[in-house]
Amino acid sequence: MSEKTLFERIIDREIPADIVHEDEICLAFKDIAPQAPFHILIIPKKPIPRLGEAGNEDQSALGHLLLTARSIASDLGLSDKEKGFRIVINNGNDGGETVPHLHVHLIGGRALNWPPG
Ligand code: AMP
Repeated sequence: MSEKTLFERIIDREIPADIVHEDEICLAFKDIAPQAPFHILIIPKKPIPRLGEAGNEDQSALGHLLLTARSIASDLGLSDKEKGFRIVINNGNDGGETVPHLHVHLIGGRALNWPPG
């Protein structure tokens, strides 16, 4: 069996994290190196390495990650058009992925630049 990823170890409570949401399908916790006042990672409990390796069978889990991000953004008061937030999924080396367990970044609390670096 392959070694657990960092995020699987967080799911299994082997590594501490500041968890803000958990349900049967996903876990959400604060990023350890926040890039904005609010920076939350939403991950599926199923160890999908990255979006590029998700399958059609993952459709409902992928939708769930986005809807969970929406709910957390709302709880943080970021949903209004006057505020706002950004969702990011880094995929592979050129995409800036550093942890091979699919994760949705929810970033907000300041005006974000575009295009990203
Ligand atoms: P990515 O670069 O898209 O793969 O994102 C990985 C993210 O995981 C980065 O933003 C890291 O700051 C974050 N990260 C790494 N280790 C931890 C940890 N132990 N707890 C919370 N976030 C982490």
